[in-house]
Amino acid sequence: MTEENWNAPVTTLKGVGPKQGQLFGQLGVFTVKDLMHHFPFRFEDISERDINTILDNEKVTLKGKIVTPPVVNYFGGKKNRLNFRFAIDETTIIQVSFFNQPYLAKQLEIGQTIGVYGKWQESRQSLLGMRIIKASDGPDFNPVYPSTKGLSQAQITKAIKQAFEEYPRSIEEIVPQILNDHYRLMPLEEALHQMHFPTNKESHEQAERKIIYQEFFLYQWRLALSRQQNQEKSGQRIMYDVDELREVIEAIPFELTKGQKQAVNEICFDLLAKYPMQRLLQGDVGSGKTLVAFITMIAAVQAGFQTALLVPTEILAKQHVLSFNNFFESIGLRAEILIGAMGAKEKRDVLEGLDKGRIRIVIGTHALIQESVTFDKLGYIVIDEQHRFGVNQRQSLLEKGTGVNYVQMTATPIPRSLALSVYGEMAVSTIQERPKGRLPIITRWLEDPLDQQLEQHIHQTLSDGHQIYYVLPLIEESEHMTEIENVLAVQERLQFTYPNYQIGVLHGQMNKEEQENAMQAFKNNETHILVATTMVEVGVDVPNSTLMVIQSAERFGLAQLHQLRGRVGRNDLQSYCYLIAQPKTDQGKQRMEIMTSTNDGFVISQEDMKLRGIGDVLGLNQSGLPQFSYANMIEDQAVLIAAQEDVRGIIQQPTRIETEEFERLNAAAKETTIQI
Ligand code: ADP
Ligand code: MG
Repeated sequence: MTEENWNAPVTTLKGVGPKQGQLFGQLGVFTVKDLMHHFPFRFEDISERDINTILDNEKVTLKGKIVTPPVVNYFGGKKNRLNFRFAIDETTIIQVSFFNQPYLAKQLEIGQTIGVYGKWQESRQSLLGMRIIKASDGPDFNPVYPSTKGLSQAQITKAIKQAFEEYPRSIEEIVPQILNDHYRLMPLEEALHQMHFPTNKESHEQAERKIIYQEFFLYQWRLALSRQQNQEKSGQRIMYDVDELREVIEAIPFELTKGQKQAVNEICFDLLAKYPMQRLLQGDVGSGKTLVAFITMIAAVQAGFQTALLVPTEILAKQHVLSFNNFFESIGLRAEILIGAMGAKEKRDVLEGLDKGRIRIVIGTHALIQESVTFDKLGYIVIDEQHRFGVNQRQSLLEKGTGVNYVQMTATPIPRSLALSVYGEMAVSTIQERPKGRLPIITRWLEDPLDQQLEQHIHQTLSDGHQIYYVLPLIEESEHMTEIENVLAVQERLQFTYPNYQIGVLHGQMNKEEQENAMQAFKNNETHILVATTMVEVGVDVPNSTLMVIQSAERFGLAQLHQLRGRVGRNDLQSYCYLIAQPKTDQGKQRMEIMTSTNDGFVISQEDMKLRGIGDVLGLNQSGLPQFSYANMIEDQAVLIAAQEDVRGIIQQPTRIETEEFERLNAAAKETTIQI
């Protein structure tokens, strides 16, 4: 197939008009190629179905022979019913009825063998037909496609058949022949065809193998290309002054941990390099990633560049700005904030300051990504809690400068093998330890929220002058209380029990200013217990709090529990976490036991991935990980890794494949829409 054909609009196919073309468009299918890649999400197996096992009202497809002439009966208005008797085997004859589809009669005749998809009506021994499946011209698998209103399964199937008919034997291979041979992969054209119209289950599996391999291979090829381009690209070389930076580090009131020092070194080394840095900084909650970001941002500023820190919430932005200025204002460095909720004038000032280069350091939320934000000389950005941002958002920020260096920070580490095969050679820095003097948080699991031990502990913490987080899960609407009622009920109970202390609340129904005030009051130790929904999960830092209570802990994911727990243990005092939970399943109990037995976020996330699967842990949709259209990065990880090795092998020894193959690959890789 030539390039043109492959990308011809679907409407060039016989029988596909503009209206259908538009409907296909809604499914993301624009070209013949898209259509051939519009795979069924399942197959209806209409081979054998024992009629005695079908439940009343169950939807099934039955195959059989029409044994009486199909007749349409009209009963008032336009209402009508099409009936015929249908033999499913030698001894079983049932009734089939279609309501208000009289035109079907023209397609049906006595003696024909067809499939009928419909709802089984046990008492009448009849099938209420919904769709006819012509079984005559194929195997006993019928594709079921993702569809949209107005586009029938039959129309989709027909268009796809047409596509294969109009473009026969012309789909070119993308995977190089040596690899097709090595893995015994089906030719692409056959694989595409088998994906839609499999001869049998086995051949469908073989087709899938090819499609999955090819998708990963193309991804890895693209990754390799872009890495190559990146290394050729001139990034901003950030020539900071080591001695000046040392002074900055001395302004910090505590000593950096070994891991922090190493991360700073690794990042600074990359900043000096002539290609743009792409680095992942992993470190458990409380390991002090923010400080690493600050120091390296200052390096960039001292070298004459502007720098930005992107964070997921406004609370976090404010907190970071405060602590930045706390540490560094004395040595003449100031960070400004840019968030959605700020006065028009204030915002204008910041925008102008960034544009003119007067402001060197900005910390902000999504507001930073907006088009109105322009920089004079952006050289380095850091993204905190990277899984909260999409690839596009990162990209928009990067495009506000040229050759911009970036670091992404995360507290949910990805297993190294997966990180390497997904991010390619993206550099990874890891902070293993937590700051000196931090005692491990002691975690206890209780079943009863009114447990004596907990009551005493709350009492003790308050009289020692320390503070407490009391976290509640978001509750579902169907339950008898709303989120606010729940929060307020707990606040009231605590206020009643501890009348001499202030109990604050923080929840999603408060507006930004109220939330901010609540956080501020807690930070200032004006409120002593903060009853909150999961809003405190991300990054909030109030070192005076030493007790975390999490109610209905069984409703949280392990990673989330660990994030929440990480809000305490931020000074050199012993901190505690109580999980109140009545898990009903073994897995639920196991989760609580993991939490009470370890403080190590890496261990926890590994355990979590074992229990729930990595996809759920990372929330793949928003994790910034690539989205494959057919292949599954987690289930097919071995293939992903193999494809990476194969790509490497070819790049090291390009003569292993034909020049033509090279060119086709490059062209195909450019076309793929998977983001890197
Ligand atoms: P993370 O973002 O990795 O979860 P933070 O950057 O919020 O962790 O740091 C947690 C707390 O530890 C902050 O209060 C920070 O000021 C403090 N901190 C960071 N590094 C050190 C250090 N080397 N020694 C003592 N305290 C530190
Ligand atoms: Mg953080």
